[in-house]
Amino acid sequence: MYSDFQKYLQTTLAEIREAGLYKNERVIITPQSSGIQVEGGKDVINFCANNYLGLADNKELIQAAKDRMDARGYGMASVRFICGTQDTHKMLEKAISDFFGTEDTILYAACFDANGGLFEPLLTAEDAIISDALNHASIIDGVRLCKAVRYRYANGDMADLEKQLQAAQAQRFRIIATDGVFSMDGNVCPLDKIYELAQKYNALVMVDESHSAGVVGKTGHGVTEQYNLRGKIEILTGTLGKAFGGSVGGFTTGKKEIIDLLRQRSRPYLFSNSIPPMIAAAGLKTFELLTRDNTLQDRLHKNTDYFVAKMKAAGFDIKPTQSAICAVMLYDARLSQEFAAALQEEGIYVTGFYYPVVPQGQARIRVQLSAAHTQEQLDKGIAAFIKVGKALGVLK
Ligand SMILES: *Cc1c(COP(=O)(O)O)cnc(C)c1O
Repeated sequence: MYSDFQKYLQTTLAEIREAGLYKNERVIITPQSSGIQVEGGKDVINFCANNYLGLADNKELIQAAKDRMDARGYGMASVRFICGTQDTHKMLEKAISDFFGTEDTILYAACFDANGGLFEPLLTAEDAIISDALNHASIIDGVRLCKAVRYRYANGDMADLEKQLQAAQAQRFRIIATDGVFSMDGNVCPLDKIYELAQKYNALVMVDESHSAGVVGKTGHGVTEQYNLRGKIEILTGTLGKAFGGSVGGFTTGKKEIIDLLRQRSRPYLFSNSIPPMIAAAGLKTFELLTRDNTLQDRLHKNTDYFVAKMKAAGFDIKPTQSAICAVMLYDARLSQEFAAALQEEGIYVTGFYYPVVPQGQARIRVQLSAAHTQEQLDKGIAAFIKVGKALGVLK
């Protein structure tokens, strides 16, 4: 039985390799940080983690996790509603609500699950979801699992969104779904305009804050801070795997009744394990750190502005960004892989992205800045980009 299927798989894998698109995982042998060591012992500066606030190896978070593991054990061995809820989970949900100025929060094992389990419990075939074309895969999957009528608008295109909202007047309820920051370009969704259109056409709004929370807005409270819409958006989702510590865990936060119904009906919540107490405790410590002061967010903003300005001045084609993502456009898939490999030789760790992660002909290197980057690390990164850019004919 397996031999025919095996041949088919081998052919498919060979095609991926021949196209130069095979993803090899590079192995790191130190904690996640702005400076890491890869297998073989080489030290590299890391520019491709979602470690925006540099918390992935933070001592206070590690201690909080250790303390809670000693006090409350390793795992919950249960889903939340059977016997998987400790006080720490409730405290973390409260801390997330306070951070975003929302009414209530529900935790998931990952934001992928938060998005996957969001739409189906809330909407039926009578309703509509109007989704940005560049939304994250987990929103797309969540929408697929729901019977609501689907509408799609071009990325950040408000004229198109308005057209789709007009068409969606045929349905009972409407929800606009968007990423806060689009992870491949680093642009922020135009939430002020989205909110206006939502008012005009009687729609709810859902924003995935995965790449924006902790990053965007003057004090890093996300897109609702940036657009002065704190507490106004019905549904926000997010992750503990990026700015908020870089571990695992996701959440949906927003209106009380929405969160209540998700606790009753959301399948990844009902049928998947609770996050371990130590992860919840480290999450709680993260929000304590972020309400203490804005040192980390300020440093991230400063680092990002510096890096982007220097790269533009060097002549690189940089996508307009309003986040900690800096997309260095190369347009060619193979070149993006060669460029990333040459940078690694120079001690700079980045990833080249190409189709289908980005549109055909839009290959790039995505640089992600962190509050943990030192001035020296930033300067080394920029110098290496310029050296490789000249060697590969990207810069003159
Ligand atoms: C990373 C990401 C997710 C997935 O988050 P996990 O917690 O790692 O599952 C979901 N949505 C967006 C927009 C993301 O960038």
